Amino acid sequence: MSVSLRRLYIRLLLAICIPLILVSATLLPVLHVHMESRLDSLYTEADALLKVGQEALTRDINESLNYALAIAEMPALRRYLTGQDETLIVDQHYSLSDLSQLSTFLNTLINHNPRYTKLVLIDNQGREVLRAPTSNETGPRVTGNYHAYTDYFGEASSLLPRDLYISPPGRNLQFELLGNDVIPVVNVSTPVFDAMGVRRGVVLLSLNWGYLTNALRQAMLLDPNANAILIDAQGRWLLDEGIPPLDDASFGGDFASLAPHYWQAIQQRNAGHASVDNHLLRFQTEDIRTLRYRSLAGTIFSENDYHPWKLGVTLPQPSWRSLIEEETTVLWFLLLTYSVAVAFGIFWALSSQRQRQLRKAAQRHAHEVSDLYENAPCGYHSLDSTGRIIKMNRTELAWLGYAEEEVIGHITYRELITPETRDRFDKAFENVKNNHPGSAECSLLTRDGEQRHVMIKASAFYRNGQFVHSRATVFDLTERKKLEEKLRAQAMSDPLTGVFNRRYLQAQATTEISRARRQHHPIALIAIDIDHFKRINDTYGHDVGDDVLKSFTRVVNELLRQEDLLCRVGGEEFAILLPNTSLAQAEQVAERIRSKAAATPINISEEHSEKVLWLTVSLGITAILTTEKALKPALKRADIGLYQAKENGRNQVVVNTV
Ligand code: GH3
Ligand code: MG
Ligand code: MG
Repeated sequence: MSVSLRRLYIRLLLAICIPLILVSATLLPVLHVHMESRLDSLYTEADALLKVGQEALTRDINESLNYALAIAEMPALRRYLTGQDETLIVDQHYSLSDLSQLSTFLNTLINHNPRYTKLVLIDNQGREVLRAPTSNETGPRVTGNYHAYTDYFGEASSLLPRDLYISPPGRNLQFELLGNDVIPVVNVSTPVFDAMGVRRGVVLLSLNWGYLTNALRQAMLLDPNANAILIDAQGRWLLDEGIPPLDDASFGGDFASLAPHYWQAIQQRNAGHASVDNHLLRFQTEDIRTLRYRSLAGTIFSENDYHPWKLGVTLPQPSWRSLIEEETTVLWFLLLTYSVAVAFGIFWALSSQRQRQLRKAAQRHAHEVSDLYENAPCGYHSLDSTGRIIKMNRTELAWLGYAEEEVIGHITYRELITPETRDRFDKAFENVKNNHPGSAECSLLTRDGEQRHVMIKASAFYRNGQFVHSRATVFDLTERKKLEEKLRAQAMSDPLTGVFNRRYLQAQATTEISRARRQHHPIALIAIDIDHFKRINDTYGHDVGDDVLKSFTRVVNELLRQEDLLCRVGGEEFAILLPNTSLAQAEQVAERIRSKAAATPINISEEHSEKVLWLTVSLGITAILTTEKALKPALKRADIGLYQAKENGRNQVVVNTV
């Protein structure tokens, strides 16, 4: 994976993660506060439910107890029990119709009040003497059941008036079955005393426990998620049905082992709340023996193992998930914020990647441009308004032999120009400063003291109508100059022998004649023709002929002064312009040439063998008149002399005077 691709992936990852962190960091405290307030209201609700449930339960129980006491104090019932004590069935104080009335009354009482399942009158011996409801409406039901060994009889037999005994909740297995239902009941018993205060028996009232606890469940209906808990001191479940998640619990079941977490939380304290299995548990201790609610009872007794009870309420605790599910606006806002942040992040990642690519391309281009600038075949520089160098490329620095730090900001460009050409530069620079193009041909002084001929072309960089700096291109003309020199030299010289050609002779002659005229100096011309040159060509070939021509010019040049001008004017014909030379002096020069040529052997190689050639020349001499405008007449005169020399037998000098 390429580095830039990996960088893009990292940026995309950041674009997703950073918004997630930021959005979470912003919204989590808000949700947290939300959650806190939800929990607060949950506590309040649990408290309220518990209070309502507790009041419903205790009110019903206390009313039931009051009922039992009221029955025990009924005169008819007392009288009946007193009679029972003395005669087995009916005595003279108590008629059969009285018994029937009492029975009917009690039947009506029990049948019309679903709180109770039965009422039983028991005499001091533990014999059942009356029971409601009766199985038929024909008359009082006397079963002959024996209650002497029951807890409710035993306990109630020793109680004082208005004291009560409450049995532990149990199933109504004993002595009666209403239909086929086996329902939970609580037996309440209280002693019956006659008007004289003599103990006559016991009233047993069985409370329909399912009906009583129903009040508790009804209270919970205020919140469909709420559930009531009622357990005794041993951890036994005291309600008809279980609650989620304890659906299995049934009346009398071992709650402590079925729900150890709940039991643990409840058992240790009298009241409080706990968080169990994602539920809030609010509970308190209930002792129906002491918790009086408009009760008329004296002391209430029971078996200690069963009391006190624990009454509680459970409510599901709000989870983050439930909170978000309920707060859909918050959820949408969260998603929207996150999406916008992620979209922005992705846009940022992609655009920064693009920018990076562009930056890289720009850097590459800048590098290329800089490379072109620095290493161009011409010089580049920029000058400020005072002419100080503010920029210069490597090529020009190399021409000048300076390092960048020696030049930039330290010297003006005109200091690098020779005094002779400085004016041209100044003029051109003035033009440039006035926003006109400027160019000048100048000579630069290099560090080594050499000169470099250059052409400078410049323009101005203006900003807001103000000159900022000049930009100049510098072309090196040195090579061109050399080439020009070479071409000029080629144009005026003979390519074979290297001496001047006829054109140059004619041009130079005009200058020399004028100078001679000005200075009143004589000036002479010698015409030379090699004798029988044709023979050399014919005998040894053209190449040897060429070599001979070259050797001859060398010989002649050695005999001449610097200012004398030897020219090849034809095939083997030469002319010599002799400035500041009289005719007599020219004759001497001609004679020297003739004799030297004749005395100089020329070595030639012919078919692998060395040979020597001898050569003679004929010469014609004339003086050039300063009145003459061109060389032509003098050349003619010299030629006439030359012909004369040829005529006379060659290898001689003939002076042709005007
Ligand atoms: P003369 O003594 O009368 O001058 O005899 P000559 O043979 O020199 O006669 P002429 O001047 O007529 O001949 C000149 C010859 O020079 C003719 C030509 O073949 C030869 N020649 C001319 N130019 C060149 C050249 O550049 N190289 C060579 N090798 N020969 C040349
Ligand atoms: Mg000739
Ligand atoms: Mg000749």
